[in-house]
Amino acid sequence: MSFIFDPDPQPSIGIIGEESRFPVRRVYNVARNYKKHVIEMGGDPEIFTPAYFLKPRDAIVECPAEIPYPMGTEDCHYEIELVIALGRDGVNVTPSEVEDMIYGYAVGLDLTRRDLQAIAKKKAAPWDTSKAFDRSAPISQIRKASEIRHLKSGSIWLNVNGEKRQEGDISDLIVPVCELILDLSKLFELKAGDLIFTGTPEGVGPIHKGDHLEGVVEGVGELSLKIFR
Ligand code: MN
Repeated sequence: MSFIFDPDPQPSIGIIGEESRFPVRRVYNVARNYKKHVIEMGGDPEIFTPAYFLKPRDAIVECPAEIPYPMGTEDCHYEIELVIALGRDGVNVTPSEVEDMIYGYAVGLDLTRRDLQAIAKKKAAPWDTSKAFDRSAPISQIRKASEIRHLKSGSIWLNVNGEKRQEGDISDLIVPVCELILDLSKLFELKAGDLIFTGTPEGVGPIHKGDHLEGVVEGVGELSLKIFR
């Protein structure tokens, strides 16, 4: 087969303890999945229903990395998140099938152009411009689930320039890991290579040129991202 121009390279992420890389297929994201974050964004966690959105797979940036401040925004926010990496396909899966679909976990940042998101919310318009932009999904290497078993709890936090800004626990996820996969598999044909950003705890805030962001999910790993000065 020949192409009229070179296709983009396949985005991929390194795996801790493996030479082969994880080829990324789709990047699913969950909105409003920690109570205190729903409240800080002015929402009511009692009427929460999981909201999903996607980012293009080429929005992935493997960390440690340094990226420019995103274009088109004056208020880009960090959101530290646990990421699930799927190693098997699944459609309408049953609870007993879910755990075997999880290849591993990573630490991710759901960078968000908060100013554009506020406009989109006001207009009841899609979130693509606020969420699905270039380099909007920095991510750590993947920790294999076979090494750490499956995640039901563990602290998640983010430091900016050495100061703690976000802190939570995976056990506080409104829709936990396995239920997210169950639910998504009713809406989409999930496949090996899919990533799921599971939502952010409270404490979101703006990034600035020159910032150094360090995020951790206990037992999974750490992410280091610098914003060019
Ligand atoms: Mn998010």
